[in-house]
Amino acid sequence: MGSKRKVCIIGAGPCGTSALFHFDQISDPSTEVVCYEKSDTWLGLWNFTWMTGTDEFGELCHGGMYRHLWSNGPKEGLEYPDYTFDDHYGKAIPSFPPRRVLRDYMEGRLVKKSKSDLKRFIKWNTVVRYVTYNQKSDDFTVTAEELKTGRTFENKFTHVIVASGIFNNPNKPTFDGIETFPGRTIHSHDFRDAAQFKGQRVLVVGARYSAEDVSLQCMKFGAKSVVTSYRSKPMNFKWPSGIEERPLIKKIDGKIIHFIDGSSAEVDSVILCTGYRYCFPYLEDNLRLKSTLSVYPAGLYKGSLWLNGGNRKMFYMGIQDQYFSYTMFDAQGLWISRFITGTLPSEPKSIEEMKKEEQKWVQRRQNVKDCHDDIDVQADFIADLSIGTGYHPNAPTARAAFHKWEQDKDENIVTYRDQQFKSVYSGTIAAKHKPWFEDFDDSIASFIK
Ligand code: NAP
Repeated sequence: MGSKRKVCIIGAGPCGTSALFHFDQISDPSTEVVCYEKSDTWLGLWNFTWMTGTDEFGELCHGGMYRHLWSNGPKEGLEYPDYTFDDHYGKAIPSFPPRRVLRDYMEGRLVKKSKSDLKRFIKWNTVVRYVTYNQKSDDFTVTAEELKTGRTFENKFTHVIVASGIFNNPNKPTFDGIETFPGRTIHSHDFRDAAQFKGQRVLVVGARYSAEDVSLQCMKFGAKSVVTSYRSKPMNFKWPSGIEERPLIKKIDGKIIHFIDGSSAEVDSVILCTGYRYCFPYLEDNLRLKSTLSVYPAGLYKGSLWLNGGNRKMFYMGIQDQYFSYTMFDAQGLWISRFITGTLPSEPKSIEEMKKEEQKWVQRRQNVKDCHDDIDVQADFIADLSIGTGYHPNAPTARAAFHKWEQDKDENIVTYRDQQFKSVYSGTIAAKHKPWFEDFDDSIASFIK
């Protein structure tokens, strides 16, 4: 393939489109970019679908988006430096937007700030079936299928960017007696509308973001009560009346849930908010990340370049546990596109140097004490990605919003979304909004009014 580069991006979600955006900005004539996207639209899990399990083509349903999802983090922590929320909406808006407001914002940047029509790079309804690295030719063979025609084809690429997301393959633990539970049992990936649990006593299993949000959503939309069950540690929020925490399930007997502390509760439905498993079945073994969720999973230089195969020509995006999300994906997209096109000022390091640096970060992550340390790891990771790329220096300073957000949640889990934050790029202070718990209108028009 000579000095020409041919880059395959797998997935056109917030990660893949960030990479596309930056390749388009660089517009290197020697670099061709193709993006394979399984669905017929971009921005991945930020699209809502009624479907669960499998989609219209029999493929694993990608997203776990639900009808009334509002951001659980302040938008000031995930803003694009070159296209702020002010730029998109033309005025200050509140800090915790509903899903449609965020999707609209991301799309606005892709359409308005790109040099060309990014959609021309994307092959829609095309699912990647297999990726292998060819030692001899130092390139990759990507096998993909056009879902609408069933045609399978192969293409060669010099580089591969894996951006297919990490919240698509639900982790489903089982519990003694769960098969005989007479009510409905679902994973949060299949949770579509809290209103379906109105009047019910709900058991929520898990103790992180989905557990916290699904519990609150259920109460907001009229559930009778929620009991949450934790494995490692309780969330310990000052819950509103109706929500309480219990330890792990011991066994389930009909509608009665027995917990390991000897307590029990009768419930009508069970929602497993037990997270996801990294899932890259289309990658050959030595290219496949195998890890549990972490802000710095092992095996990646700059959290992006795969060190265990693919001759430093394969990249992962957005596989970190997330605080900064869009900002982090954007900083990653910029670093990867600059690395591939050879437009970083410093020369790539040797693989040994890269591994040494990666180990420093993995060690640091292993020593974190709490969520505040994790926030700092991610902020410093963004700063590290920005070395040489010129990514906005204020990006890591948005860490202050996340530290404050954690405190707000501890103070009042029901009202943390009513707080206002300041943009580190525009300096704008977010607008005030009706209390989240009382607001049932999540349309864009209502939110930005
Ligand atoms: P997660 O952060 O991976 O949390 C998984 C939870 O499941 C943990 O508490 C874990 O407990 C528990 N768990 C796993 N296996 C278990 C088992 N066998 N028994 C009992 N508990 C078990 O996943 P998540 O909460 O679904 O969050 C995923 C992502 O979705 C996050 O990035 C989050 O921000 C996002 N999200 C966003 C919103 C929103 O914007 N409104 C709402 C929901 C989710 P351990 O701690 O013991 O491992």
